Parts: sequence; C-alpha cells; structure tokens
Amino acid sequence: MAEEKNDLMEKIVSLCKRRGFVFPGSDIYGGLANSWDFGPYGSQLKKNIKDHWWKFFVEQRDDMVGLDASIIMNPEVWKASGHTENFTDPLVECKKCHHRHRADQIDVTKGCPDCKGELSEARPFNGMLRTFLGPIQDEGAQVYLRPETAQAMFVDFVQIQQTSRKKLPFGVAQIGKAFRNEITPGNFIFRTREFEQMEIEYFFNPAKTKWEEVFAVWQKAMEEWMMTVGIDTAKTHIVDIPDGDRAHYSKRTIDFEFEYPFGQKELFGLAYRGDYDLEQHEKVSGQELRYLDSETNEKVRPHVIEPSLGVERGMLAIILSAFEEQKLEGDDVRTVLHLKPAIAPVQVAVFPLMKNKPELVERAKEVYSALKKDFRVEFDDNGNVGKRYRRQDEIGTPYCVTVDFDSLEDGAVTVRDRDTMEQTRVKTEELKKYFENNF
Ligand code: ATP
Repeated sequence: MAEEKNDLMEKIVSLCKRRGFVFPGSDIYGGLANSWDFGPYGSQLKKNIKDHWWKFFVEQRDDMVGLDASIIMNPEVWKASGHTENFTDPLVECKKCHHRHRADQIDVTKGCPDCKGELSEARPFNGMLRTFLGPIQDEGAQVYLRPETAQAMFVDFVQIQQTSRKKLPFGVAQIGKAFRNEITPGNFIFRTREFEQMEIEYFFNPAKTKWEEVFAVWQKAMEEWMMTVGIDTAKTHIVDIPDGDRAHYSKRTIDFEFEYPFGQKELFGLAYRGDYDLEQHEKVSGQELRYLDSETNEKVRPHVIEPSLGVERGMLAIILSAFEEQKLEGDDVRTVLHLKPAIAPVQVAVFPLMKNKPELVERAKEVYSALKKDFRVEFDDNGNVGKRYRRQDEIGTPYCVTVDFDSLEDGAVTVRDRDTMEQTRVKTEELKKYFENNF
C-alpha cells in the first residue's frame, strides 16, 4: 500500500515535469533544495486557482474587499504579532549524521530517523527568513520576509475600513508570497520555504455576532470552494486542534487535512483569533485599531475568523483529486487529469485533422482565433489526432475540437469530451454557446 502511494507521488511529480507544470528550480545549476518553478501549464493552473478563489470570495460577495500589501514590513509588526519570539519549531540535530529534524514531527525517543544516532536537546528555531534593507548590513537594517500574509490585514485595518466604508461584519482577502525557513521542507510542493497563501480575515463585532456562527459559515464556504475547484472531499478530514496545541488566543482552530500519498496532512486552517492581533498592534504601535459603530457610537475592536490556505498545497490536492490512470483495451492506459473547466490551464484544444492540408489548417486557425476571445485555447497540429488527445488529457483539457474534411462542407466540427471520450458534431457558430453551457 505504502509503495503504491509512493508510486502515485512519483507519477504526479513526473507528469508535472513532463508536461511543464512544475520543474525543479535553478535546475541548470544543480537546483536549489526544495525550490520549484511553475512552468507554462503550472503557472496558468496556479493563476486560475487564485483567480477562482478571488472571484468566489471577493468579487462575488459584497462583504469582502482585497489587499495587496508589501512582503517586507516594519519589523515591529513581527514583534507585536509574537512571531519574533514565538514563531519557532523545536529543532534537534543528530550527533552522528548531523541531519536536522523537527522534534514535534518525529519520535525523539527512537533517535535520528535517518541513522538512529543520538539527538541533541531540542532548541527553538525561528522560522522567519531574515534579510537586510539598504547597503549597511547591521542589526538596524534587519528585516523579515513575511511568514504569513495575515498581519498586513490587521495593520491596515483602519485604512481598509475607512476607504471601503464597509460595515461590520466584513472581510479582507489577500493572496501573496510567504516565506518560512522550514527545518524539513519536502514532499514536492507540499512544504517549501517560499510559497503562496490565500488568506481572509473576517472581522465582526462579538457583541452583535456569535463567533460560533461566523465560524460555521466560513467552514461551509471553504467546503463549497473545495468542491468547486475539484478537491475530492471524500479525501478531506476536519481535525479539531485540541486546547494545548492551539495558539493561546484561539478559542477554536480546525485543520482541513487531505489524504496526500505521503499521509493525511494539513491542507488549510480555519481559526478564531479573537481580537488578539488588533490588540497587540494597538499596544505596540500606540494607534487605535477600532471600528466606529454608527448605531451605538461605540468604538469596537473587532474579532476575526481566519481561513488560511496554501496555494501550492491546494494545487497538489487538486492535481491528486483529478489524476486518473484509465485502463483501456489491452495494455493501453490513458492518463487523465479531470480538472474543472474553470481552472484547467487549457479549456479547449483545436486541431486540424491533418497538418499538411492547408485548407484544414486555415479553417482550424479561424476556429482557434474565434474561441480564443472567450476561452483559454491551444492550437495543436503535432503528430496524429490520437496522440494530441492523449497530450490534452494529461494536462486536463476538457474539450478537443477537430476540423476535418466534412467541416469544410457542413461548417461543423468534432468536439471530443475528455471525461467520456464521446464525440459530438457541433456547428462552428454554436461552439461558444456549447462551451459556455458545459463550463
Ligand atoms: P504546518 O503545520 O503544515 O507547518 P501550519 O499550521 O504552520 O502548517 P499555517 O501557519 O496555518 O500552517 O499556514 C496556513 C496555510 O499555509 C497552511 O494551511 C498551508 O496550506 C500553507 N503553508 C504553511 N506552511 C507552508 C509551507 N512551508 N509550504 C507550503 N504551504 C504552507
């Protein structure tokens, strides 16, 4: 079973490399441990996931606004939020092979997981990545690359609220890079030192709204979002983080875990953070971070519910949920990514039946150009149609359109469905409507 699962992970990594979704970063220089580059299809898929999330949680709601804050913030932010002091993992080092491990992720009583050697005492290791601003690299110039996108949503709370004129409850959403000096990165794009987060801080007045209700609504919203992007909900599990393991200011945190081939692990978290962050930033900055309730004329420090999701972890769960090796006749196996049309890197592929027939190529190019205005479309005339189908199946393209000799007579094309492999004749002028109905 474990072997089968490793096998699955190998297949995913190999497909991602072969088809240009994800490559090892800095490859020509021997790579850089655990850094990955998202190639033509991968960057498009990642963008589609983020766009879909933004549309779902910001554009389609009237109680949400967006933010795009700086990665490097004033270091006081991290003092106030507690990251400078507490954003640590317990680090142990093997006295024999000198490999480093996170003490909370291994059984330290069994010694080093790699060589069984004796382990050092655990010491706290701060996960924030440091750099320097300006030409003088002294203490005063030291800054951090943000370890989460969340803090800017607290620091900018008043400006966001006043400029957007939103009334409580409302939320702020942000997508962006975050950096963590992970002790043990790994499992492909699951845990890296540079990654992207999609986070929301949903602010509410605790005197008027029960946190349990807001929490339940967000849990449901996240579940709905997972379904719309095609994450297999049969493989997701909710884990309530117990008292001792939760941040002290959080009354409830749940992790949505996904059955990755390397184990059931966190996909994203949902936390009730109270007013901890706003209170801390008020204390350290000396500025009031409150909301003026126009009904009661009271100044309120809102509480927050925070759904926080890693883009790459989401993308991996989406690819794993979409991946299928279908046994066809004989030894034939078809590899398919059943990606939802909304996020598939290519939505429609257009082929001329034959490459060396100019009249077919010309008509196919016309169909391609017309569809490109409304969809993500690719033109392909390499190899035979069967090979082109397989390539599009592997990158998750929902529909392929073939222009053949009959098309020149009847103005129709063959549309082939990725999932059922069924073929339908559709008039070229009806193609747009056909895809709109099916996407
Ligand atoms: P873990 O326990 O796996 O280290 P975490 O609980 O520290 O994760 P959070 O601080 O809750 O993670 O971060 C929110 C989300 O950001 C996570 O649910 C995950 O999707 C993503 N994330 C966190 N760390 C990484 C990482 N090193 N690489 C990729 N994604 C990450």
